[in-house]
Amino acid sequence: MIGAGPGGSSCALWLAEAGWDVVAVEKKRFPRVKTCGDGLTPRAVRQLADMGLEGELAGSHRFEGLRAHGFGQVLDMRWPEHPSFPSYGYTITRHDLDGIVADRAVKAGATVYQATEALEPLLEDPEATAPADDHPHPGAAGAPLPGCLGALVRDRDSNKTREIRARYIVIADGANSRFGRALGTARDRTSPMGMALRGYYRSDRHDDPFIESHLDIRDADGDVVPGYGWIFPLGDGRVNVGVGLLSTDKRWRGVNTSRLMETFVDFAPKSWGLTPKSCCGPPTGGKLPMGLAVLPHAGPNTVVVGDAAGSINPFNGEGIAYGYETGRLAAASLGEALSGDTEALGRYDQRLDDAYGSYYKVARAFIRLISNPEAMKVCVGAGMRSEFVMSQLLRIMANLMRPDTLGPAELAYRAMELVADILPASPIERARAS
Ligand SMILES: Cc1cc2nc3c(=O)[nH]c(=O)nc-3n(C[C@H](O)[C@H](O)[C@H](O)COP(=O)(O)OP(=O)(O)OC[C@H]3O[C@@H](n4cnc5c(N)ncnc54)[C@H](O)[C@@H]3O)c2cc1C
Repeated sequence: MIGAGPGGSSCALWLAEAGWDVVAVEKKRFPRVKTCGDGLTPRAVRQLADMGLEGELAGSHRFEGLRAHGFGQVLDMRWPEHPSFPSYGYTITRHDLDGIVADRAVKAGATVYQATEALEPLLEDPEATAPADDHPHPGAAGAPLPGCLGALVRDRDSNKTREIRARYIVIADGANSRFGRALGTARDRTSPMGMALRGYYRSDRHDDPFIESHLDIRDADGDVVPGYGWIFPLGDGRVNVGVGLLSTDKRWRGVNTSRLMETFVDFAPKSWGLTPKSCCGPPTGGKLPMGLAVLPHAGPNTVVVGDAAGSINPFNGEGIAYGYETGRLAAASLGEALSGDTEALGRYDQRLDDAYGSYYKVARAFIRLISNPEAMKVCVGAGMRSEFVMSQLLRIMANLMRPDTLGPAELAYRAMELVADILPASPIERARAS
């Protein structure tokens, strides 16, 4: 297991629970800082509950839903009811959260070597060279991975290197995924990608019961600027404040995210008290690879999970739940492979497709649509005038449609699926189909 964030730790935990020998290497030592909005939706809470960890969240901030600001409207929307997910979320810093899950994997029997960095893959065929960078051509982004024997790792305390060999390797090294790329994974550059920046502020509203998102940010002249913003109360005296931008926005290359953050902090409701004085430090940023746009997802003895596979939900930028979920799906495929099923890893991609294929296709089409400011104004601007419409959209965007009822959100989603189906297949869909 390369990396012990949400994807790696969940996969390690589920494999160890099933009785398999698991070794994870994690280049940092927990607790460690990870740039994130620190928001856990009901999907993430469900995964943590399944891991037996919901009790560990007792001291964290529980929130009831999402407050959306946009187009002159403000809507407080509670998380929808769902038979499989709770109707609340939590905020907890990744500094505190990730070590809890890694510890749980250790309790289940996994070995986690912290402060141990995987430097490079040990290839079955050392002549097999991986491409240097993201493939510009989506067909190439589906090129098969070579066999991998393990990793050359370095203990960061002693600076000593050694080899760790394994029958199967899980690539869970996050959005930059150097190890994955060294092996040959690549992001389909024609698919949407996100970029986000976050910082912490002290705020009297640190225990607000809603996380807040701002769909249109305006500068000092009142002009809308590209990007969205969020304020997530942490319940510990601080709020997590961030901005994000999608690559489908034509203006994205010209955007300075630090300046966007300053604009958002000036623009945010004054009641949050976001000032240079309440700022806890400079913001940090990262990439959001989404829509499963990093390919391939498996090789002869490798599987790719979490951000390394681009598993973030394009609708809302959520990636923690999808790290846990893809880690768990990978553990199921690996369990079958370890039990002697030689076709099991080949079916991992099918598992991902069954879980997210159609939903992410709709999401990619939706964000392409709303990346056009005029279409955004029509679709979301009009929606913001109706709490009913927005609460249905929240159900869709948070991937909380009910399997047992055909309500308005489920019907609207089916219609979106039909529209997405008649759109020409995107390059990533073509690459996956081949
Ligand atoms: C600004 C920002 C805000 C976000 N906000 C949210 C949010 O509020 N809610 C949400 O659900 N998602 C959010 N996300 C997305 C979320 O952070 C990711 O989707 C999630 O962390 C993915 O988990 P992962 O395990 O795949 O990767 P990571 O969390 O990145 O974990 C990868 C781990 O691998 C380790 N590693 C990397 N390389 C190596 C190596 N060579 N050897 C050993 N170890 C290695 C890293 O140290 C790290 O611990 C946000 C992302 C950003 C950038």
